[in-house]
Amino acid sequence: VESPYGGSLEDCRTRPEKIAKSDCDDNIGYFIKKKLCVWCRLPSGLWELGTIQSTSGDAALVSLSSGNVIKVHRVELLPANPDVLEGVDDLIQLSYLNEPAVLYNLQCRYSQDMIYSKAGPVLIAINPFKDVQIYGKDSIRAYRQKLTDKPHVYAVADAAYDEMMTDDVNQSIIISGESGAGKTETAKVAMQYLAALGSGSCGTEHANAILQTNCILEAFGNAKTSRNQNASRFGKLIEFHFSTAGRICGAFIQTCKLVAQLENGERSYHVFYQLCAGAPSTLKERLNLKRASEYKYLNQSDCLEIDGVDDARKFHILVEALDVVHVCKEDQEHMFSLLAAVLWLGNISFRAIDNEKHVEVLADEAVTIAAMLMGCSSQELMLSLSTPEIHGSKDSIVKRLTLRQAIDARDALAKFIYVSLFDWLVEQINKSLAVGKCRTGRSISILDIHGFESFQKNSFEQMCINYANERLQQHFNRHLFKLEQEECELDGLDWTKVDFQDNQECLNLFEKKPFGLLSMLDEESNFPKANDLTLANKFKQHLNANSCFKEEKGSTFSIRHHAGEVLYDTSGFLKKNRDRLPSVFFQLLSSCRCRLLQLFTSKELKQFQKPENDSYQIDALDPSKSSAGIDFKGQLFKLMHQLESSKPHFISCIRPNSKQLPGMYEVNLVLQQLRCCGVLEVVRISRSGYPTRMTHQEFAGRYGFLLLEDDLPQDPLSLSIAILKRFSVLPEMYQIGYTKVFLRTGQIASLEDKRKKV
Ligand code: ATP
Ligand code: MG
Repeated sequence: VESPYGGSLEDCRTRPEKIAKSDCDDNIGYFIKKKLCVWCRLPSGLWELGTIQSTSGDAALVSLSSGNVIKVHRVELLPANPDVLEGVDDLIQLSYLNEPAVLYNLQCRYSQDMIYSKAGPVLIAINPFKDVQIYGKDSIRAYRQKLTDKPHVYAVADAAYDEMMTDDVNQSIIISGESGAGKTETAKVAMQYLAALGSGSCGTEHANAILQTNCILEAFGNAKTSRNQNASRFGKLIEFHFSTAGRICGAFIQTCKLVAQLENGERSYHVFYQLCAGAPSTLKERLNLKRASEYKYLNQSDCLEIDGVDDARKFHILVEALDVVHVCKEDQEHMFSLLAAVLWLGNISFRAIDNEKHVEVLADEAVTIAAMLMGCSSQELMLSLSTPEIHGSKDSIVKRLTLRQAIDARDALAKFIYVSLFDWLVEQINKSLAVGKCRTGRSISILDIHGFESFQKNSFEQMCINYANERLQQHFNRHLFKLEQEECELDGLDWTKVDFQDNQECLNLFEKKPFGLLSMLDEESNFPKANDLTLANKFKQHLNANSCFKEEKGSTFSIRHHAGEVLYDTSGFLKKNRDRLPSVFFQLLSSCRCRLLQLFTSKELKQFQKPENDSYQIDALDPSKSSAGIDFKGQLFKLMHQLESSKPHFISCIRPNSKQLPGMYEVNLVLQQLRCCGVLEVVRISRSGYPTRMTHQEFAGRYGFLLLEDDLPQDPLSLSIAILKRFSVLPEMYQIGYTKVFLRTGQIASLEDKRKKV
């Protein structure tokens, strides 16, 4: 085959992840003759452009763009796209969709601050880590008036808005990407666009209030981690509702959260530092607030401040935002008291008694101030924390706690207060945004959920996050494949020719009952004698048949996720899954004078029946109660349910470097993310092996004249078939639909070649 567009190239090009067998194999002669550019994989693994000078056997001599000449095996060569395709807006336009071609195209755009590109139906957003001048009123106007068609979040939001208005169908914008990739910022850009569109005379106030929610939720739900200074520790779905006139008439926020543990180099939630730094002196006095460095929950890590972030200023912005969403001053004071109470709870310490077996609370300022802030007596608080009295059905017993149990109990109390506060706040925001209460069926939801995580050591949180990402990936796959399937089926094409990999097997691993990860985790959590090792063994015993599960040593196991294999360690799984407030605290909390604490407690009590059990089981999970894993799954399902009933628009965010710096593009890091998020796959599917689609009229019009007079049929469909036959296009290279000809990559180029020669 002389043309570079024929033969075995097709397979390689439509399967970019399997390019080890070089595209150039059969066409090397052509590349040499025409001096066409190729990608050459260097010994370092990086790709560089070059031209082939000569070949001998399997080796090729390549002259690289850097000026060097190297000898490589043919399999290290891949075809490069012609210059005219450099930096195209949509990867779909590339003649060759191999990995270096995609990487180079995105890099070329990124270097010119074009951070957005399309991959068929998906928008790719590469984090610029600097201000790029592509946002704001003028830009919004340009997209609204369709003066530009450059890829942008605004374009995605605009398309969603238009579709919602014309079809009366709910829309969703689903943003994915790993930590630090820019999901939250992208979500804010989309919100900004919708707020601008939807804010007419009556919608302005709503639009402003909705935008203000970002800083509140970020203060309470985000923290600095080693990967992102403003990492979201919760997933969020925000739903904008529009009136028939297309004005915003309300919004609703749903969250899906996990309370993460603090690692070194990380901070706790921003709001604690903001409060310590920014509270006015009178408030500080009332709350007995000290500097952040005085609190154990904050000073365990060596990071108290973030470069370039003024926590005190952020506190003022937070208070302003709370005012906008109508959280009254009195409730704000309660909130801040509870935040301070959490900090003081963390400072409570214990002293050993009974020959070191048990502990009692050290009666110091920490316990006194915490009790004062919660509105209970310090005596009661001390007793609940070390020698709780358990009320049974007949009598009461006093239990003494060990140091470990007492610390766990203290932390569980602090966590309960914080999580309840977060939920309450979301509720207040929703109340304030829901003015008008018009659930119209005209809505756009924006999803910003924690991205896939894979560290050296992965725990319960990563397992939940990665599970959520599997669910999302399935939504992504199913939707995008379905679209493709519909187009093909509508045109009478044989769909089975487009293969598609489902991740159902991996979801089964999590969700199956009774032998799925989540069910078994719950079962073990209810079993007081269970430990991390018995849990790991149970997994191994029942999950080996699932191809996504991999047995590992001791308390570890691996899961083959769509985005790669992740090694998990069950250490701490049971404790994190049980994650509940010992019942003794319900008595304490409901007797507190703080209005919010009473509210949180009655809510929690309503949710779960009081255990009838006599024993004080910090470690055992009451079967009538749910667990962290099941709670998470429940929240996730609610979000997914919402998404299922809407038309999705996808945005994949990419983290271009691990240093959080502008202008730096780490090829391998980008590649790994492109593979993970399935973007290359989607482009491949969008092209589905038959990327060129021309109506029979177009096709016959363009190539019909190549036919000889005597084989000219009348109708366009027959003309198309006659053209394909006349030029011996192989049957596997095309499909004939009712209305269109579907051609494999490159076929059109060889027809064009013939056309030119005539
Ligand atoms: P996580 O999963 O940890 O929450 P994320 O994907 O939400 O991460 P962001 O917090 O949105 O990541 O982005 C991280 C940082 O990258 C931002 O704080 C900001 O500095 C920068 N950034 C992201 N997107 C943009 C953008 N479009 N323009 C300028 N800077 C950006
Ligand atoms: Mg985020």
